[in-house]
Amino acid sequence: MKKSVLITGAAGFLGSHLCDQFITKGYRVVAMDNLITGDLKNLEHLFPNPDFEFYHHDITKYIHVPGTLDYILHFASPASPIDYLKIPIQTLKVGAMGTHNCLGLAKDKKARILVASTSEVYGDPLVHPQPETYWGNVNPIGPRGVYDEAKRYMESITMAYHTFHKVDTRIVRIFNTYGPRMRLNDGRALPAFIGQALRGEDITVFGEGTQTRSFCYVSDLVEGIYRLLLSDYTGPVNIGNPNEVSLRSFAEEVLALTGNKVKIVNRPLPVDDPKQRQPDITLAKKLLDWAPVVSRKEGLEKTYNYFRSLPEAEWHRQPK
Ligand code: NAD
Repeated sequence: MKKSVLITGAAGFLGSHLCDQFITKGYRVVAMDNLITGDLKNLEHLFPNPDFEFYHHDITKYIHVPGTLDYILHFASPASPIDYLKIPIQTLKVGAMGTHNCLGLAKDKKARILVASTSEVYGDPLVHPQPETYWGNVNPIGPRGVYDEAKRYMESITMAYHTFHKVDTRIVRIFNTYGPRMRLNDGRALPAFIGQALRGEDITVFGEGTQTRSFCYVSDLVEGIYRLLLSDYTGPVNIGNPNEVSLRSFAEEVLALTGNKVKIVNRPLPVDDPKQRQPDITLAKKLLDWAPVVSRKEGLEKTYNYFRSLPEAEWHRQPK
C-alpha cells in the first residue's frame, strides 16, 4: 500500500514542487487548493497520474478527505507581500482557521502534519543570523503583521495540538526560496527583477538596496522539508540558504545574467521591511544532515530560463 500525503496550497509555487517530490518518491498525493494565488498550470502535468488527485477547496472551511492519510503538509497561505497586503483577512484566516482544520484532520486520521512557517516569525530581527531559539521582533499592527502573526499563531496552535492532543507535528521555518513556478508579478524580489529585465524596464530596488536576504533554491528546500517530515524532531527548524546577499548586488547579478542594458533605480523602502535576513542552519545540518547544494548562480540560471521560456504575454500579466 502506498503512503498517502495531503498537500494544502498544492497549486502554488512550493506546494506544486512538493507534489512532484512525493509522486517521485512513490506516494499517493492528495492536493488541495482554492487557487486564490495558485495556478492549476503548476499541477496539470500530474493530472494523468493515477496516484494524484486534486480538490478545489478553501481550507478555512471544514476539510473532508476520504480514506487514510499518513502525512499532511500544510502550505496553503498567501506568501508574497503583494498578496497578503491585498487579502489580509484571508491570510489571517488561513493561518488560524485553516491551520486549525488541518490539525483537526491530522488528529482524526492519526497523520503526521508538517506546517509551513516562515523566517517572517523573526520579523525585523535583532539577532543575526537567526537561530530557532530567537523569539523575533514583529510589529503586530504593521502592514506585514497579518502574515507574520498568522504564522506565529500557526506555530502556537501546532504546538498546542502536539502537547494536548498528542498529534505528531513538524514545523519548518522557510527562508526566502526561489525557482520555477514563482509568479513574475508576485512582488518578491527575484521575479520582480527578472520580470523587469525581460520587459526591458529599469530594475527597482527598494531603499539603498543594502538590506540583505538569503535565497534558497527550491530543490534544496524541498529536500530539507522531506527530511524534516521523516525525522523525529517536533520543534521548529530553519530551512534556507545562509549565503546572504544585499538586494543591490542581487539585482546586479540578475542584470548580468539577462545581459539587458537597463538601469537599477531606487524606490522608498516599504514599512517594516526587514534589514537583514540569514538563517542559522546549524540545527538542520545536525538533525537532518541537510545543507543547500545549489549555488545562487546555478539557481538563478534555471529560474531565468524558466521565466524566459514563458509566453511573452506572461511577462506582462498583472497581479490577480
Ligand atoms: P503561493 O502563493 O505560490 O502558494 C500558496 C498556495 O496556497 C496558493 O496556491 C493558494 O491558492 C493556496 N491557498 C491560499 N489560501 C488558501 C485557502 N484558504 N485554501 C486553500 N488554498 C489556499 O506561495 P508559496 O511561495 O508556494 O508559499 C507556500 C507556503 O510556504 C506558504 O504557507 C508560505 O507562507 C510558506 N513560505 C514560503 C516562502 C517562500 O519563499 N516561497 C517562505 C516562507 C514561507
